[in-house]
Order: sequence, then structure tokens, then C-alpha cells
Amino acid sequence: MKKILITGGAGFIGSHLAEELLARGEEVYVLDDLSTGSLENILDFKDNPRFHFVLGSILERGELEELVRLTDEIYHLAAAVGVKLVYENPVYTINVNIKGTENVLNAALKFAKKVFVASTSEVYGKDVRPDRLKFRETDDLSLGTSLRWCYACSKALDEYLAIAYYKKMGLPVVIGRFFNTVGPRQTGAYGMVLPRLVRQALLGQPMTVYGDGQQVRSFSWVKDVVRAAIELMSCPQAIGEIVNIGSEEGISILELARRIKDKTASSSEIIFIPYHQAYGPDFEDIIYRVPDISRLRALINFVPSLNLDQILDRIIAYERQKIRP
Ligand code: UDP
Repeated sequence: MKKILITGGAGFIGSHLAEELLARGEEVYVLDDLSTGSLENILDFKDNPRFHFVLGSILERGELEELVRLTDEIYHLAAAVGVKLVYENPVYTINVNIKGTENVLNAALKFAKKVFVASTSEVYGKDVRPDRLKFRETDDLSLGTSLRWCYACSKALDEYLAIAYYKKMGLPVVIGRFFNTVGPRQTGAYGMVLPRLVRQALLGQPMTVYGDGQQVRSFSWVKDVVRAAIELMSCPQAIGEIVNIGSEEGISILELARRIKDKTASSSEIIFIPYHQAYGPDFEDIIYRVPDISRLRALINFVPSLNLDQILDRIIAYERQKIRP
């Protein structure tokens, strides 16, 4: 049995990671300040004797170091997340993401512990390439000047920092770039299109498509994402690597809304909301974002367990039961 620290373990992805590690027999320590995470996310396993919750922040170095000392490896997921939240709180975002990650890497170095650093597909930035190609880890990152990009920039710096700790100081790190991830317990409160559209459809409310709806995303099932992270952590070839974790099945947001409307037999109207109304004045969206996951496949033979249709069915069932238990 390993002792594992998850920063941000009460968040959406972190709580699924905690659940999976507990199911695999590990002892799990979660450090979370409950800024976007919640106790509800960990309700199902909070009484497991192998589970420990610590309310605290990665910005408090003392407590963080103590937890790192106590545990065998670290999954660092704590961050300011969610497009809307980040756009509205840029100072907070930059501070938490950069200082927090530096604290985690320093503590890991001090006690020689392996770290998984959760990064994001946001770091690819705008799709400035002439062809719509799936993003590969070797692609350039192209960020803009709008404050929307402060999140991507802070996470990109986290990646550089982690790679630098690996190359210059020998710290074993694995960096996962998460693409859009969905599943139970995800809240639509900070953006997150899929649970929002499903809830709107089930409640008969207007389904809000931002812009013209031609922007493309791909969605992966959270349980596949956490399995990929765990397998990468036990894969020696993944050390010092950046790895895309996501689905290659792209869909436009308008098509997604139509599919959800069909599947739920909803009477909701699909409405288009201009970006400036949805997010604020100088917002820039990413028009196409789908990963190439060859590297993930090569490292851990990754095959997603669910396709988009199956994911939609699961989320619709989950949201339905939440609305009418
Ligand atoms: N979006 C939308 N309607 C919503 C919420 C989001 O059309 O109610 C769009 C958003 O502008 C983006 C895509 O859906 O183009 C995915 O948004 P999300 O916040 O889920 O994640 P992102 O991919 O932007 O990180």
C-alpha cells in the first residue's frame, strides 16, 4: 500500500482520482482549500479509514511539506480552474497556479518524491495553424494578450518549471495535459459546457451555445482520465514527459447541443449567446481543440472505455437522477 497525496483532491477530477486510488488499495491524503472543490465530492469515501482530508492551501508551505514528507508520491491538481472563474480572477489565478506549483515542486524535491503535475490543453492556446490538426505535445504554444490567457500562461509556466526540476535537479515528474473532462460531480458553475447543456435540456431551459457554436472540443470520461494519470505515474518512460490526456473524438458545440436535445427529447430552444455577453469584453475562444493521443497510447496502451455517445448517456442519467432523485 502506497501513501499518496492529492492536492486539489476534493475537486472534480481530484475526487475521482482519490476514489480510484482507494479502490486500488492505496492510502490517500487530500489537501484542498475547497475554493472550487467541495466536501460533497468526497462524501462517498470520506469515512474510508485509508482516506484523510486536510483543509488547507498549497500556498501554506509548512503544512504542504509535512504532507509531502508523510506520503510516497504526489498528484498535484490544486489550481485555480474554470474558464469563467479564471477570467474573472486573474490575480488569484496567477498567484495560486505559479506559487502553489513552485511550493509543491520544492517540497517534492526536499523529500525526493515523484510528482504528477496536472496541466491543461489550454496551454496550446489559440489554434493559429492553417489546418485543423489535432494538438501534439511538440506543437508551439500560442497565447494571446487577453486576460483569458493568464490561466494557460500560468499552467505553461508550471510545466516549464516541472521540466526544469526534472532536468536540472533530477526530480521525477510526469506532466499530464488534460483536455475537456466530464463525468459525475462536475459542476457547471465555472463554465463547463457539457453538464450545463444537459441540465438546461432536462429542465426545459434555453440551451446556451456561445458564439456561433462552430468551436470544436472533445470530451473524455473522468474515470479514463484518472486511470491514465495513475498508469503514467507507474510508467518509467513517462518521467520528464508531457502527455496529452483526452479524447480524439471532436464535436462542435452546436452539434453537441443538438445531440443532447435529441437524447433528452427536450423541448428546450437552442440559443446563441455572444461571447462578450457570456464572458466579458475581450474574450477570445479556442476554435478547435482536440488532442493527438499517440504518446499516451505508446506509453500506456491507452484505450478510452466510453465514446462520446456513451458518455452523454451516462451524464444525462446522472443529471436526471440529481434533478429527480
Ligand atoms: N460554452 C457554450 N455554452 C455554455 C458554456 C460553454 O457554448 O453554456 C462553450 C465555450 O464557449 C467553449 C466550449 O463551450 O467554446 C467549452 O467550454 P468549457 O467552459 O466547457 O471549456 P473550455 O473548452 O473552454 O475550457
